[in-house]
Amino acid sequence: MMYNFKEEQLIIKPHKSEQSIYIREQKGVYQTYRRLLSWLLMITFITIPFLQYQGQQAVLFDIGMQQFRVFSLTFWPQDFVLLAGILMLAAFALFFVTTWLGRVWCGYVCPQTIWTLAYVWVEHRIEGKRNQRKVLDKAPWSLDKLKKKMLKHSIWLLMSFLTATTFISYFIPVNSLYVDLLSFNWTALITFWVLFFTLCTYGNAGWLREKVCIDMCPYARFQSAMFDKNTLLVAYDAQRGESRGARKLKDDAQQLKQEQGLGDCVDCNLCVEVCPTGIDIRNGMQYECINCALCIDACDETMSRFNYKKGLISYTSEHALTGEKPQGISFKLIAYASFCLVCTIAMILWINARIPLEASILRDRNTLYSVNYQGIIENTYTLKILNKSQQPLHFSINVPELEVEILELPQKLLIKPGAMQTVPLTLAIDGNNLENKMTHISFIIQAIEQPSILLKRKTIFFRD
Ligand code: SF4
Ligand code: SF4
Repeated sequence: MMYNFKEEQLIIKPHKSEQSIYIREQKGVYQTYRRLLSWLLMITFITIPFLQYQGQQAVLFDIGMQQFRVFSLTFWPQDFVLLAGILMLAAFALFFVTTWLGRVWCGYVCPQTIWTLAYVWVEHRIEGKRNQRKVLDKAPWSLDKLKKKMLKHSIWLLMSFLTATTFISYFIPVNSLYVDLLSFNWTALITFWVLFFTLCTYGNAGWLREKVCIDMCPYARFQSAMFDKNTLLVAYDAQRGESRGARKLKDDAQQLKQEQGLGDCVDCNLCVEVCPTGIDIRNGMQYECINCALCIDACDETMSRFNYKKGLISYTSEHALTGEKPQGISFKLIAYASFCLVCTIAMILWINARIPLEASILRDRNTLYSVNYQGIIENTYTLKILNKSQQPLHFSINVPELEVEILELPQKLLIKPGAMQTVPLTLAIDGNNLENKMTHISFIIQAIEQPSILLKRKTIFFRD
């Protein structure tokens, strides 16, 4: 049979993410929690760079100096093992939380969600409610429209600029950054990064919004692999809600059910209108859902108006929805929690055992040894010492295995915080005091002010 293409009408609907979504503002219990948490996280983000510890910025990821300072601890590129630990802990913590509470990260804590919430709040205040915004966007350009749009985008840009400067102040000392910015003494580097992060924030939170969650975020794609039947998710109780249908406030629910087979969903469409990703949760679980609970609050409001029991859309689990007995804590959850615990303990132990001192010793490559005019044997080394602490420290250097004289070395070697010092030194000893041609020795480098800061570096001493 020949297929007649002409008879078929191909209707291509734009994907949800390609349509503009006009979110309806919604209040409710979960939205109150979300707003409070958003405020708390934003204030924390803004405040941290201004915290001072012992006269210095308490948290600073100083890329120029290659050191990350977190209160009394300073981390160096050599401490990258800690970064690996933090990444592992973050990954397992995310797996644990996702298995237990679903996409709670996306709905409550993710910066993309928090910033979008703030930008949408500004939009509501300037352009009005959902329908007013739709009308405004469709209307031809006028002075009023231009004023509203300009005001909204100016505030969005200002918020983006403040976000960018706050973010950069985690990497550039806050004092110098703001002095430079306020005195318009912008270096090319600062200008580039401020503009870059301003545009990123403006684009992501102002324009892309849910498109980041739907089309760009990889987490949305693999999260379902972590879900089990006990995972908390936002779901519509279809058994209770279907079949859906509009009705009047005074209609008797029991009568409607018996006569028309209507469930509790009054088909008000509010759950769709408030959804930031533009989905209809009544169609079942969808990867676009970020667990923000806006649809729960909207539906609860409708249920209250109709005097129905709340919770037609609720935080629930697949088990609870199908009426099955909830299982105990799953093996997967215990495994993720155990990994988190192991990573945390390992990092605490590693930080406790860490010494804020790095040293290396290199022998002179040209000569194994030399004999001076008195018959004394000399070996030359280069010692490199890095003071990884936050205070200037004096160091002593000793070689306990030999009764040697260390030539040209000051009694106390002063090294500034964060500084690396190269120390050329020569060991001199009467060759008759050595049994072997090759003697294994070690340099003990110790901070005089804090004797627990001590390192041992092994090398060899040669004689003829
Ligand atoms: S379906 Fe509900 S919980 Fe999911 S994103 Fe939409 S409003 Fe938020
Ligand atoms: S908000 Fe509740 S009642 Fe209204 S359409 Fe959605 S599920 Fe039905």
